[in-house]
Amino acid sequence: MSIAEAESGGSYIRIGENNSMDVPDFPYIAFIEGDGIGQDIWPATRYVIDRAVEKKYRGRRKIYWKEVLAGEKAYESTGEWLPEETLEHIKRCVVAIKGPLTTPVGGGIRSLNVTLRQTLDLYACVRPVRYYRGVPSPVKHPEKVNMIVFRENTEDVYAGIEWKEGSEGAKKIIGFLKKEAGCELPLDSGIGIKPISRRKTFRLVRKALRYAIENSRENLTLVHKGNIMKYTEGAFREWGYELARKEFANFIITEDDLHEKHQGKAPPGKIVVKDRIADAMFQQVLLRPDEYQVIATPNLNGDYLSDALAAQVGGLGMAPGANIGDQCALFEATHGTAPKYAGQNKVNPSSLILSGVMMLQYLGWKEAAEAIEKALEETVSEKIVTYDLARQIAGSQKVGTREFAEALVERL
Ligand code: NAP
Repeated sequence: MSIAEAESGGSYIRIGENNSMDVPDFPYIAFIEGDGIGQDIWPATRYVIDRAVEKKYRGRRKIYWKEVLAGEKAYESTGEWLPEETLEHIKRCVVAIKGPLTTPVGGGIRSLNVTLRQTLDLYACVRPVRYYRGVPSPVKHPEKVNMIVFRENTEDVYAGIEWKEGSEGAKKIIGFLKKEAGCELPLDSGIGIKPISRRKTFRLVRKALRYAIENSRENLTLVHKGNIMKYTEGAFREWGYELARKEFANFIITEDDLHEKHQGKAPPGKIVVKDRIADAMFQQVLLRPDEYQVIATPNLNGDYLSDALAAQVGGLGMAPGANIGDQCALFEATHGTAPKYAGQNKVNPSSLILSGVMMLQYLGWKEAAEAIEKALEETVSEKIVTYDLARQIAGSQKVGTREFAEALVERL
């Protein structure tokens, strides 16, 4: 511990060999309050996390929060939307949590969220989706949904390699394809590139399989559109199986093996690795959601699938998320800044609170994480909810953001 650390009482999380994490009992954790409703949901979330940690560990563990600036707050005080110092602090802290950020219009940055993910190489977008009792849902059995989506964050059409229709770049690519590959494209085409690589597929599927092993999950599904896009989505499927067989042979069986060698019954402790074509998967998660636990998928499929799954269990207001790399992890609410409600103590803080739960699980502080999840479920099932859920639950007690957090803390 350095002198500065000893004086403040906190110390830094360290990344060891094989990217393992050494979490001290008094870690520094970086936070970005966020724009718009960030000023409402972040204080509520911090209050819940701190109380849960205090209650479960009675002073043996405590988070030392370090505020870092991004978005409007950063722009007002530094003239920059995402100061270099913020990125350095997040890297130093290893773990960070953030409220939503406004995407500056014409600020020269495509999106602060995308920039954060790319600069910190947070290659896995992780979205757990489960049902909390009492939350209104459009499906008959939302309790059957308990999945976690690992979506590749840096490749696929999100790589951002595009040329506008009629631009020099588009004309050159069209000319090149005609000359070198004999492909005739309409001259008025816009062009986008969809790269999917072996290395980045490997690291994403590896992360998903490690999660499945550490959390005793029974199956992992590679979701792809490989029947049409053979060398990108199809390759994702092939590489996914290759990685599973190569690095996790003792932990997995494939779905083919399950039927050919095990009469359809997985040996205890083995994870069944299967794959589904993306369009079929959308049906599957509606019709037989309990057959799917961990999902690994390229970027665009994952984008659609995680929102569709969140809708089944009550919408984005209840959906937590994280962007995780090998050196750093950033936990975040999945909704935006909802500027019209900013500062009104009105909106639902559950998405950010549940992202905090994911963060505590990531630190290995499972007792505090479980306590918050349980208390949140109790609060909602007692019909104490913010306006968004109150309008859907007959006889509910509508409370503000702060009061919701207080009700939750009372139930810890
Ligand atoms: P939004 O901020 O998510 O808000 C859309 C609507 O969703 C709100 O009007 C509200 O619906 C509901 N909502 C969102 N958060 C809620 C909460 N905590 N509790 C209850 N209801 C909630 O989407 P947007 O208006 O499209 O985007 C606004 C800004 O956010 C943009 O600048 C966008 O770039 C940014 N954004 C940031 C992130 C991020 O940082 N991760 C993600 C998405 C968007 P009702 O009015 O119907 O109640």
